[in-house]
Amino acid sequence: ERNKRMRLKTARAATLDGELIELHANIELPQDAERAKEVGADGIGLFRSEFLFMNRDELPDEDEQYEAYRHVVKAFAGKPVTIRTLDIGADKEARALRSRAGDHLSPNPALGLRAIRFCLTEPQIFLTQLRAILRASQHGRVRLLIPMLAHAQEIVQALALIEEAKAQLRESRHKFSADIEVGGMIEIPAAALVLGPFLRHLDFLSIGTNDLIQYTLAIDRSDGAVAHLYDPLHPAVLQLILKTLHAGARAGLPVSVCGEMAGDPKLTRLLLGMGLRQFSMHSAQLLEVKQQVLKADTALLAPQVSRLLKVDEPEKIAELMARL
Ligand code: PEP
Ligand code: MG
Repeated sequence: ERNKRMRLKTARAATLDGELIELHANIELPQDAERAKEVGADGIGLFRSEFLFMNRDELPDEDEQYEAYRHVVKAFAGKPVTIRTLDIGADKEARALRSRAGDHLSPNPALGLRAIRFCLTEPQIFLTQLRAILRASQHGRVRLLIPMLAHAQEIVQALALIEEAKAQLRESRHKFSADIEVGGMIEIPAAALVLGPFLRHLDFLSIGTNDLIQYTLAIDRSDGAVAHLYDPLHPAVLQLILKTLHAGARAGLPVSVCGEMAGDPKLTRLLLGMGLRQFSMHSAQLLEVKQQVLKADTALLAPQVSRLLKVDEPEKIAELMARL
């Protein structure tokens, strides 16, 4: 049993028809990188940096953040480490930030001043984080990921602030990798529907299915009373994922899924059949998903999934899912 697990960890994640699939890990704290390495992750697909800001009274300064990011980048020497900029959602407590937002209490935090919206109204906090991430990029392959984008001007403003952070670092003679890749999360339906600005301005996309489902179906992802309606297989959700995968492929932009769907082994075949080749998930899910990949044949799955995506009756979808 242990030998089998060892073999699974080191095996390349290739499908039966020879498609190489990238399996990345989601982490919350720097020390999670060790576990991700243990299960043989191809990189970090999502570092939820907001965890560095939670459960404390003071914000982490640039050096503290730099040390945290550097730890992960060094642990994953040469492999991609995707650091997402601050995203305090409705579900995450951060009193150090609450006071900075001018005690602004959102009547509905999920629709309020979170993630990139907050960062664009607090450019000093954002610039500090950007400088820390950029400095970590001298130690390996860092990718910068911006959450909750919906508007073209948010992309443009975020990119301008990244350039400003670079200029500040040049000024203070700090090293960084000038060609750091910048990507955006697709997790608001508007973003998936109008991808043009994302494809033109960014280097990669990552689909955040947790929020994409929440906003598409108007279901609070943390509200148990409506949890039965939170459905990753709702055809509207699947259409938005498919559209993003297709648009990315046409434009030559890598697209990953980093929401919980990517770590659900029951959905691996569906996502492979939709064309997904990059998954990012909690380390605990990675080997189970890899097992599914090793058993899958994307050439066979593609036409089956394409049939499944044309139906809109839940029973029919469930039946076709069972036959994948
Ligand atoms: C998502 O929304 O799917 C996601 C990966 O980000 P988070 O769960 O941190 O909002
Ligand atoms: Mg999200």
